[in-house]
Amino acid sequence: MRWSDFPKWGHWLADWAARYHEGLRDRPVRAQVKPGQTLAALPDTPPDAPQPIDDVIADFERIVMPGITHWQHPRFFAYFPSNASPAAVLADQLVTVMAPQCMLWQTSPSATEMETRMMDWLRQAIGLPDDFAGVIQDSASSATLAAVLTMRERALGWDGNANGLAGQKPVRIYCSGEAHTSIDRAIWVAGIGQANLVRIPLAPGPMRGMDADALDAAIRADLAAGYLPAGVIGCTGATGMGACDDIAAICRVARAHGLFTHVDAAWAGSAMICPEYRDLWQGIEMADSVVFNPHKWLGTQFDLSAHFIRSPEDLTRTLAIQPEYLKTHGADGIINYSEWSVPLGRRFRALKLWFLIRAYGLDGLRQMIRNHVTWAQDLAQRLRQVPDFEIVTEPVLSLFTFRFAPPGHAPEQATLDLLTRINDDGRIYLTQTRVDGTFVIRFQAGQFDCTAEDIDTAYSVITEIADQIRKG
Ligand SMILES: *Cc1c(COP(=O)(O)O)cnc(C)c1O
Repeated sequence: MRWSDFPKWGHWLADWAARYHEGLRDRPVRAQVKPGQTLAALPDTPPDAPQPIDDVIADFERIVMPGITHWQHPRFFAYFPSNASPAAVLADQLVTVMAPQCMLWQTSPSATEMETRMMDWLRQAIGLPDDFAGVIQDSASSATLAAVLTMRERALGWDGNANGLAGQKPVRIYCSGEAHTSIDRAIWVAGIGQANLVRIPLAPGPMRGMDADALDAAIRADLAAGYLPAGVIGCTGATGMGACDDIAAICRVARAHGLFTHVDAAWAGSAMICPEYRDLWQGIEMADSVVFNPHKWLGTQFDLSAHFIRSPEDLTRTLAIQPEYLKTHGADGIINYSEWSVPLGRRFRALKLWFLIRAYGLDGLRQMIRNHVTWAQDLAQRLRQVPDFEIVTEPVLSLFTFRFAPPGHAPEQATLDLLTRINDDGRIYLTQTRVDGTFVIRFQAGQFDCTAEDIDTAYSVITEIADQIRKG
């Protein structure tokens, strides 16, 4: 295949994309293949001779498509959304065609300057003050790693990269039990060690946020015991049931001890384009670092994570490397975003934000998010009226959890049966979590093309299958 063949296949792709999206409601949301099925359909050895693209495409339909879980299905209510809006997909096609590697300003000035502008648009959109600068990271996990490394270096007087952690006081980081596992991994990778990630107990109340007094007490106890407290990681909308720390309270405690704060709002941050939801992270202006994923709810398909930091100097002091071959001579005052992140190479991600925000406007995106929140709340309300259904955690934005406890059945088994049968049915897709040890089903509304009718379908599927279980 040559570029001269591209128009033919490019047109085919455009038609395929439109047909795929039109037909999504007729497909099961979750892939229904068995483990090993796709692998077995792929030849053991690579071809030596070139093969016609028609054949590759035919095999794509036959082998690959059955094993796809359709994250862009309007009735995807599992995990969190991972939205791809058509405008952002179009932008990504342009980027893919040019495939620039945007590690330095000079390796594509437009990419760097577009990133600066788009991150500032996003900063304004979510209501962060203008002393935050933004950078696009590949994932929230990477942003959190960058923040943890910054905490570590700041606490060690910038000595960790140079001399390692041996002989240093143990660095301590604090978060709640609701915080995401990406934090554990950041702690491991940063050489801090799981034992030095201190889980602060939750304060009473539905938001399941960490107890700020307990945080203060833990930091004091660590100081007295000769540890080196470095930072606090708060969450807004944690993955399980949407837990939200009291950001103002934990930032006050962190500041009093001179600690760095990072807030993980990977999912919920997108909702902050609607001012009425900003109570959930009240005090965010006091944080040192905030991450959220436009690749979740907003519609700039994976991967695009927005990382805002108050002091980019601390971040680049932690991560920048400048060997001779990366120096950009004669270009002063420019930004090289690869100095703000762990990977060196960078794709041109900001373009899809530009297309997204212009094509839908912030108003269009706000409307989408408000609809999802309203619909999820309505569904929780309806399920609450159904006998044997219990709403275990109330909606946080568009996420709530429930369980099914019909008489004569163990609730955990009945809830698991309900979930399994729903996902085998395929019309909707849901996943599970535990809340204080109780097995629950999560429901979140957030897919880009989801409608009120799709939520009605969810209600019908859930109650229909529950009836079947009741009847045995
Ligand atoms: C999804 C999620 C993450 C991980 O995001 P990646 O971009 O996949 O690394 C981290 N924290 C929370 C709260 C999340 O919801």
